[in-house]
Amino acid sequence: AFDKLKEIPPDAILGLMTAYQADHSPDKIDLTVGVYKDNQGNTPVMRAVAESERRLIETQASKAYLPPLGVAGFREGIRRMVLGPVDGTVESRTAVIQTPGGCGALRVAADMYRRTGSGDTVYLSNPTWGNHRGLMTAAGLALEEYPYYSPSTHQLEVDQMLDSLSRIPPQSLIVLQASSHNPTGEDPDAATWEQVLDIIEERDILPLFDLAYQGLGDGLDQDAAVIRAAAERLPEMFVAVSCSKNFGLYRERTGALLIMGKDPSHRKVLETQAANVARGSYSMSPAHGPLIVAGIFEDPKLHQLWLDEVNEMRGRIQGLRNKFAQALANERSDLDFSWISHQRGMFSLLGLTQNEVDTLREDQHLYMVRDSRINIAGLQGATIEPIAKAVAPLMS
Ligand code: PMP
Repeated sequence: AFDKLKEIPPDAILGLMTAYQADHSPDKIDLTVGVYKDNQGNTPVMRAVAESERRLIETQASKAYLPPLGVAGFREGIRRMVLGPVDGTVESRTAVIQTPGGCGALRVAADMYRRTGSGDTVYLSNPTWGNHRGLMTAAGLALEEYPYYSPSTHQLEVDQMLDSLSRIPPQSLIVLQASSHNPTGEDPDAATWEQVLDIIEERDILPLFDLAYQGLGDGLDQDAAVIRAAAERLPEMFVAVSCSKNFGLYRERTGALLIMGKDPSHRKVLETQAANVARGSYSMSPAHGPLIVAGIFEDPKLHQLWLDEVNEMRGRIQGLRNKFAQALANERSDLDFSWISHQRGMFSLLGLTQNEVDTLREDQHLYMVRDSRINIAGLQGATIEPIAKAVAPLMS
């Protein structure tokens, strides 16, 4: 059987990581992979996470199975982190299941949508994070795109997006990145989100909010604002939550899926369906990361330490954005780089061609994703100027 299988070329980003590791130039710079980095280029364990993990290891007496929906303190804490102080009805309408990272949540949502029999198509922003395609296709969904952002003008394509959304067939599934859009860094403003929600409500479209960077854009509450607005007015929604970036738990595979139904009486159905989807593939989500997060949510001091660390990461990213925009402006007084400062989260698209990206890698040992996405958190005080000098001549 196995001889019928063919080797699959490496994922675009992982392939670049391998090339970067094999590059022996002392000047090499990596802006590809989407992990937060400090000014030394490290991705350290957050202090609140390390302390919570230490306590967990000291006190944990068993590794026996937990209930299928996951760790109670984690699920409750995530519900509060995402929905904020909503009224009790929203809370009682919302099922929460712990999942293996944001990817696990996206996949469970896609499988559940298939089970509803409402449709077989999902709408993704153009451009979007590459793995949305893989996750949605694996669940048997057909992919469609809606216009979102133009890398050449560095702007959201608001009119084209709204026009396209208003033609989506009712009951389709749409993935909306709630904040710090990957790969563009460009998010709709509150007024545009209102228009998007108007269309979704009118046309009875089912939103799947992807929340992978809460806290790293404008703040924990601000970054979930569209989800809270949707909770107030829409009958149903999914929210796929990732703790990879804001808790730095990447490899611990920590996330959750929130499923808001029309009525509190639906919650049991949603919980048992989600648990049943999980049971049919990975059975239940790993608990180490969720127990660490629950330990942080449940201890006011650790919670405050974590909030401070998230604020510090966000502040560093924003500082790097401002410095990078200034360094580019120093090279090219003919261009406006304010879009880099006003975009949010870890990514921006420089708007270069694939050939230009390849040349930067081959000649200058500067690595970015081939669509010219850079990880802003990969910039460092000492590398901003050389990077600006290398890319500015190519920008428009
Ligand atoms: N959505 C987006 C937009 C992402 O960028 C990521 C992480 N790169 C995820 C979801 C999920 O990440 P994870 O499964 O590692 O939590």
